[in-house]
Amino acid sequence: MLYNQVQDLKGTIRVYCRVRPFLPGQSDGQSTVDYIGDNGDIMIVNPHKQGKEARRIFTFNKVFGTNATQQQIYMDTQPLVRSVLDGYNVCIFAYGQTGSGKTYTMSGPDLTAEETWGVNYRALRDLFHISKERMEFIEYEVGVQMIEIYNEQVRDLLLDMSMRIFSCCLTLTISTLDVRNNSQLNGLNVPDACLIPVKCTQDVLDLMRIGQQNRAVGATALNERSSRSHSILTVHVRGKELVSGSTLKGCLHLVDLAGSERVDKSEAVGERLKEAQHINRSLSALGDVISSLAQKTSHIPYRNSKLTQVLQDSLGGHAKTLMFVHINPMVNAIGETVSTLKFAERVA
Ligand code: ADP
Ligand code: MG
Repeated sequence: MLYNQVQDLKGTIRVYCRVRPFLPGQSDGQSTVDYIGDNGDIMIVNPHKQGKEARRIFTFNKVFGTNATQQQIYMDTQPLVRSVLDGYNVCIFAYGQTGSGKTYTMSGPDLTAEETWGVNYRALRDLFHISKERMEFIEYEVGVQMIEIYNEQVRDLLLDMSMRIFSCCLTLTISTLDVRNNSQLNGLNVPDACLIPVKCTQDVLDLMRIGQQNRAVGATALNERSSRSHSILTVHVRGKELVSGSTLKGCLHLVDLAGSERVDKSEAVGERLKEAQHINRSLSALGDVISSLAQKTSHIPYRNSKLTQVLQDSLGGHAKTLMFVHINPMVNAIGETVSTLKFAERVA
């Protein structure tokens, strides 16, 4: 394998926890995070409980506190991202309740301010940078797909992209796509989703803008919808070694998951209940797959959700997985915080 800098990470599952800061206007009284240790410990305090029960320590590969910058987050993600250029498959997930900072970590708050960019943009910028450095030895081709999974249906967010560039008033029909796990299809699990070649970070920025617009088209309220669907940006890389002619192939899935909050069964009805059931089912299917991989059980239940089917080739085997779990430190989020950390503990 070429340029293999990260062999020690082979086949591993890592879990990082990130604590969102209090936002302007939020009364930042009490925080449910008591302390963060250097060794990946985080102590949570539950103000509704007394004595021993009130405090609990969780341990992950790393915990980022409220002051962590986007750059610091990326520094610890970079080795995984770079291994894609050596032919690895990598999945990076953002998990957490709505409002806990998933999109902030993956995309960032402001595309026009480069220092605030999230993992997605930094990863692509890095891939272009390294491939340029290796240009004398390897020729790389990079292409992206962008899909969302909503109510167990897969939709292409880059569909009709070329048409939309020329006419913003086209009504977009978002059709649903099949998932096919078939190595004959060039390693594409959603072979009918557009695969758009990209050459530089600007190409990616343009595509992401279109993807985000498309996501909004079918939705009454963008925020509502985006918190109830999983969005997956997949970067496919092919490399050809110039001297030997040998080739390699790797892919990076960057996944902004649907909000993990439990919905009150007595309140949710109709569409909302259906969405909630789909989300619960797919997040627990993901948890089941990752924890069976961690425990090295022989049967890995990939087929229980569209999400795990789409990502099947990049979960397990020699693939590498990183889960960012996000928590909101406010007291009124304590229930979700504890269930998020329990989920994360199960997959770590
Ligand atoms: P989610 O995608 O999980 O629903 P968002 O990423 O949209 O959550 O974050 C909710 C709000 O909190 C947004 O206004 C976002 O800008 C802000 N936010 C999240 N994480 C951070 C952070 N680490 N630093 C500053 N603001 C943050
Ligand atoms: Mg979001």
